[in-house]
Amino acid sequence: MPELIPISLVAHQAFCPRRAWLEAMGEKTDTHQVEIGTQAHTPADDPTGSRARRYRAVDVISHDLGVTGRCDTVELDENAAMTIVEHKATPVRRRPEVTDPMRIQVALLAGALADMGYPVSGQAIYFTNHHTRVDVPLTPADRALARDMVADTARTLAAEQAPPPLEDDRRCSRCSHISVCLPDERPLTPVTRRIIVADPDTQVLHLTTPGSRAYVTRGRIEVSKSGEKLGTFPIERVQGVVVHGNVDLSSGLIREVLWRSLSVVWCTSSGRVTGWARAAQGPNGGPRLLQHVASQHGRIDLARQFVAAKVANQATLLRRHGDAPTAVTRLRELQREALDSPSLTDLFGIEGDAAARYFEHFLTMLRPKVVATEGLTFSTRTRRPARDPINAALNFCYGLLTADTLRAVVACGLDPHAGFLHSSGRNKPALALDLVEEFRAPIADSVVLNAFNNGEIRTRDFSTALGTTRIGERGRKALIAGYERRVTGTFRHPIFGYDVTWRRAMEIQARLVLGVIDGTQPRYQGIKTR
Ligand code: SF4
Repeated sequence: MPELIPISLVAHQAFCPRRAWLEAMGEKTDTHQVEIGTQAHTPADDPTGSRARRYRAVDVISHDLGVTGRCDTVELDENAAMTIVEHKATPVRRRPEVTDPMRIQVALLAGALADMGYPVSGQAIYFTNHHTRVDVPLTPADRALARDMVADTARTLAAEQAPPPLEDDRRCSRCSHISVCLPDERPLTPVTRRIIVADPDTQVLHLTTPGSRAYVTRGRIEVSKSGEKLGTFPIERVQGVVVHGNVDLSSGLIREVLWRSLSVVWCTSSGRVTGWARAAQGPNGGPRLLQHVASQHGRIDLARQFVAAKVANQATLLRRHGDAPTAVTRLRELQREALDSPSLTDLFGIEGDAAARYFEHFLTMLRPKVVATEGLTFSTRTRRPARDPINAALNFCYGLLTADTLRAVVACGLDPHAGFLHSSGRNKPALALDLVEEFRAPIADSVVLNAFNNGEIRTRDFSTALGTTRIGERGRKALIAGYERRVTGTFRHPIFGYDVTWRRAMEIQARLVLGVIDGTQPRYQGIKTR
């Protein structure tokens, strides 16, 4: 027996086939528009609110139509004939107008209810923002169109590839899925339409105080230590949680975060990512399988872009803040060579060469007075263990960056472990590390340079023992504050031409990788700052 299709998906299909696909793939949108729609439905979704002659949240099914669904409200007249009333939130500035998707939705609800043996005498849409009820009389043509739309939806869902985004179509401007669909970004050209930023009011919560405990109570995350409350934060404003070092999380908090399809990333106090938790019901299971195949076969085109953008951004940072014009020129050459690199081995060679030249002159980007008074030294990158305060600070900020790209990768359903530049065989979050590359210089390096140059961190914030330099709690907090300022600050996107936060830019890059994998994106392009 063919699987029954949710009527809501058929309505999405009527609006745009790609939206039906995204919904079926489990893409959660978090825009203001969806929030308003959810609020408008809340009373109608509660069957306990039913009264005599008016039933709420009535489930319907029709094997003949091949659909299941739920009526918001069903009203009975004195002859027990039923009228379906659907609740819709439409901005007040727009007219309370019954659209084709709404008409198809009520036609299917009415058809299913009739198939279940109930007499249906009418349909209506109640526009919650306008407090206006509009009757929707149905014609045989409406019913036939609704049936055809069920067949179209089945074809969309059975396809191996996502439908392409609409091109320059007005529907996208009022689509709740624009922030995950990215119809304007796909061609990798400047975007003229105003972009809805995904959930701009939310924040990533960093838990840093050693020995503290975080838990959820009455819709807020609270952090306390030894009986003293350190802070409290509304959970609906949390975009993700990053735990630094020895901080205890209650299972109730972890469950609540995962229930909201958010992720938790655990790091050591020096910034190394040790693990993460993601919701079981992530989106894009199908493309995730394609990602594994692509990762095994290799995608040198993606790897080239990650490295070329990384080197380009190193060159830009050094040109802006350093004093090494010859190195900058060579970095520009290496950037171009990366794009033509025939193999991963060559690419690693280019990346290593660029890193050596860039870090050789890293100290020139710090104020000479700061270098002198703080006694800063930096001869080369020493990953772990860090040998000096600058390396310790860089390690810590690269960890913050990895936590962010991890979140971006997980949010669009990809597997952090299956990468294209970094080896997936080493049990590292290879794809998250791939994405980190282009953001290292403009975010992490920039935060470290600013923090030292502005005196936000000092050498006394670090300790060295047996050749290993560690950052202390005050230094960690200062770097987290600088990092958050940076990733929540906006910049002019070099490809799309609009202002966007760095954190949102990471999400967009992860979604472009997803598009390349699922075949809806012609190619990937790294962000190269100018
Ligand atoms: S943004 Fe446009 S192309 Fe994408 S799902 Fe919405 S209407 Fe369709």
